[in-house]
Amino acid sequence: MQLMRFLVLLCLFSVSAMADSPRYIMLIGAPGTGKGTLGDKLSKTEGLPLITTSAVLKNLPDSDPLKAEIVDKMQSGELVPDALIYKAMAAELAKPKYSKGAIFDGFPRTQKQIEFLNDRKMQIEFVVVLYADDEILVKRLAGRRIHEPSGRVYHVDSMPPKNPGEDDVTGEPLVQRKDDNEWTIRKRLLDYRDQTQPVAVWAIFNQAATDGVVKRVVLVNASGSFEDTWSMMCSKLALESVKLNGCR
Ligand code: ADP
Repeated sequence: MQLMRFLVLLCLFSVSAMADSPRYIMLIGAPGTGKGTLGDKLSKTEGLPLITTSAVLKNLPDSDPLKAEIVDKMQSGELVPDALIYKAMAAELAKPKYSKGAIFDGFPRTQKQIEFLNDRKMQIEFVVVLYADDEILVKRLAGRRIHEPSGRVYHVDSMPPKNPGEDDVTGEPLVQRKDDNEWTIRKRLLDYRDQTQPVAVWAIFNQAATDGVVKRVVLVNASGSFEDTWSMMCSKLALESVKLNGCR
C-alpha cells in the first residue's frame, strides 16, 4: 500500500515536472535559408519567444565596451567570438520572458557554443536543419533589401517593392545589409560549412541519446518558397510524432 502511494506520487511529480519544463526549438541553416521567417512563424504558432542571436548582439547597449568590436565583426560577416556570445546569450536567456522556453535562430553556431546547452542541461524538443544550394542563397541574399524601421524585407527580383528602392507602406528608402554583398555572402557561406554544419551533424548523431540534449532533428529543403519549406517541415515533424499548432 505504502509502495503504491509512493509510486502514484512519483508519477504525479514527474508529470507536473514535465509540464513545467521549458520547450526549446533550434533552427540551423546557412544564411539565406529563411531561419528568421520560419522562426517568426513558429514563434506565433507555438507561443514561444524567438531569440535571434544577431538581434541580441545588435541590441547590446552602446556603453558595452565590446559593442564596437561586435558590430565590426557582424558587418564584415565574421563570427563574433564564442566567449562574447556565451555572455550575451546567458544574459538574454535569464530574462523572465523565456521561462516557458524559446526558439533559437542562429545559436549555437559553433561546436564550442554547444557547451552552453550542455552546461545548462537544456533539452531541445526538435532541431530544424534547413539546406539549399549556395547559388540560390547568394541570389537571395544579394537581392535582399530591407526597410530598417519596420524590418520589412523585399527582393529586387522575386519580391520587388512597388517603387524601386522604396518601402511600400511608408515610401522610406530601403537599404542593403552591409554583409549582403556577394564577397561577404560567399565568406559567410564558407564559414557556415566550416563552423556551423558540424553543429547540425552533432545534433543528428545525438538525437538518439537517451539523456542527450537533442530529442529530434528534421532536415528540410529550403530551396523553394517559404510555404514549401513550412509544409515540408510539418510533414517531417509529423513522421517524428511532433504535432505543432501551425501544422494542420
Ligand atoms: P546570417 O546568418 O544570415 O549570416 P545573422 O543575422 O544570423 O545573419 O547574423 C549576422 C551576424 O551576427 C553574423 O555574421 C555574426 O557576425 C553574428 N552572429 C550571429 N549569431 C552568431 C553566433 N551564434 N555566433 C557568432 N556570431 C554570430
